[in-house]
Amino acid sequence: MSPERPDPSEHPCYTGEHAKFVKLHLPIGGRCNIHCRFCESGLEHEGQTADYPGRTLRTLTPDEIERLLRNARRECGRVDVVGIAGPGDPLANWKETRTALEITAETAPEAKRCLSTNGVWLERHLPELLRLIHSLTITVNTLNPDTAAHIYDRAVTEDGEVLTGPEAARWIVERQERALDLLADEPYLLKKVNFVLIPDVNEDDVEEVAKRAADAGFHAMNVIPLRPGGELKDHRPPTCRELSRARDRAERHLPVMRRCQQCRADVLHCHGRPRLIWDLLEEGD
Ligand code: SF4
Ligand code: SF4
Repeated sequence: MSPERPDPSEHPCYTGEHAKFVKLHLPIGGRCNIHCRFCESGLEHEGQTADYPGRTLRTLTPDEIERLLRNARRECGRVDVVGIAGPGDPLANWKETRTALEITAETAPEAKRCLSTNGVWLERHLPELLRLIHSLTITVNTLNPDTAAHIYDRAVTEDGEVLTGPEAARWIVERQERALDLLADEPYLLKKVNFVLIPDVNEDDVEEVAKRAADAGFHAMNVIPLRPGGELKDHRPPTCRELSRARDRAERHLPVMRRCQQCRADVLHCHGRPRLIWDLLEEGD
């Protein structure tokens, strides 16, 4: 891929103009290398179709990825953006993720390829990733290890060591700091930071994350309201006022997205019309 300065206006998640673009999510993987206490990313049963980031009915095989890309191009005229954001963390499913990105580059070369990760295994995969993607999102919910201990309770290192409790939280923060440092040196990548706002837990950390990302040359931040789930299923989500205040604080440092649709992992946005991908997969060539 020849180096090109990234242009946020070519990406629906940065402009909020979803109707202008064709964006396809490819559900790949399933494994995660950390555990966020609120997480409900993962597979669900037929008939359950809650709108929840990272949710999907199932994952795709390589043949299905190719067929889906061809059918989406035929149905929508083109594919502008292909995103991989779960279920699980794409870097914890590296073989599947790399295959999906390579198939996309061959089948829909016009599409910008995007990946969303928690960043803890970024260092290991960054050199290869840089050849395969145009934009990267990293979710950083705090840079404070004490806060992190309320959000995460488990992590797995690249060597397979399982960390738990505060040790896991500290390691996650260290690895995400390292990821931000590495990304600061990548001017040709479009970069966004996600922050899940958990009231009474991390609202005071939003500005530090925003500032740190701005210093690392990030182009935008997405402050996402907690969707109570997992162990935090009884935790309250932020009020509109809390969300707006957190976004205002982040906006002191970098542009803040206010029109994120919190997509599932198996959705196609065809010129503004969202639909699940599964019917499209059934259509013949
Ligand atoms: Fe869930 Fe994402 Fe956290 Fe993994 S990183 S536990 S998939 S929210
Ligand atoms: Fe864009 Fe938000 Fe959907 Fe991600 S979840 S693709 S940022 S609209």
